[in-house]
Amino acid sequence: MCPTMHSPTRYARSMVRFTVLASGSKGNATVVTGGRTRILVDCGLSCRELFRRMRQVGEEPETLDAILITHEHSDHVGGVAVTARKLGIPVYFTEGTHRAWMRWLSPRRQMTYAQWLEQIRRQAAERQAETDNPAEEGEPDESDLVLDSSAEAAESAKQDEPAEPEEPAKAKEPTWLPAVEYFAAGEAFEIGDIRISPFTTPHDAADPVGFVFAAEGVRMGFVTDLGYISPNVKAQLKDLDLLLLESNHDLEMLRDGPYPWSVKQRVMSRVGHLSNEAAASFLEEDYDGQAAYVILAHLSESNNLPELARVTAERALNGRASLLANMLLLATQHEPLSSITFR
Ligand SMILES: [Zn+2]
Ligand SMILES: [Zn+2]
Repeated sequence: MCPTMHSPTRYARSMVRFTVLASGSKGNATVVTGGRTRILVDCGLSCRELFRRMRQVGEEPETLDAILITHEHSDHVGGVAVTARKLGIPVYFTEGTHRAWMRWLSPRRQMTYAQWLEQIRRQAAERQAETDNPAEEGEPDESDLVLDSSAEAAESAKQDEPAEPEEPAKAKEPTWLPAVEYFAAGEAFEIGDIRISPFTTPHDAADPVGFVFAAEGVRMGFVTDLGYISPNVKAQLKDLDLLLLESNHDLEMLRDGPYPWSVKQRVMSRVGHLSNEAAASFLEEDYDGQAAYVILAHLSESNNLPELARVTAERALNGRASLLANMLLLATQHEPLSSITFR
């Protein structure tokens, strides 16, 4: 496999591409392309900002096939409902993540599981009834900000006002999605030409996961939002062509930084975020050194500096860098990273 960042077009069908659009606590989104399939991994940007960044790096939003979610924190799901509706594509969650996301958007309803199932059935019936009469095609995406639950609910409510009296129920329902698919950690599955192996990560969410993507013989590991590298995670991150790994904070900066002590403890905990030091110790001691690209991701803007993260990882990878291995890149919050293409 010959990894290149700028190589001439050869055979379009044998192509794997990996594009980080945003990474950090204000929003996460990455596009993975394999063969004819294109998946958005996490959707923590508003739909408008997501589309803007995709076009900026030459990706067509309309060609996305599915959205895949790691966990329900708002920096990973803030724009998912609006984006999925606009594109009419399915969203893949674990069941635990989907339920947590639904609860997050309907905090006052306190649905029981039975009520929730009933609601899903009712929505399915409504969708069935609407198939003859597809209502709104694209929904307005008013905000360039990541929506929190109340903002999205408010936006949804706002959209209802000028509507016809017979407006379908889905417009009133912030959790309505064109289609929901479940997957489970430990059970590999396929979306089109991409094989996806989800694995459990230690993080304070309902059912958080990382992924290994495989397409055309290229393997890409993807893991952020984890308190430490558990044996399970370690076992997954092998024989990779690309590794995207969290390098969230510098321990000293976090300790001396502006967060209240309770938040510092949460970040540092076994279900918080991975420090530069922990990422480096994985790269030094456990990582097999095989990946052409190592991308540091989910860097904190308050408790980290890109150069600190880079130097710490570089030191750990020292001796492993070569022409075709371990090129170190940093994903950022505000700008997409250049696409990485494998041909
Ligand atoms: Zn996050
Ligand atoms: Zn998280």
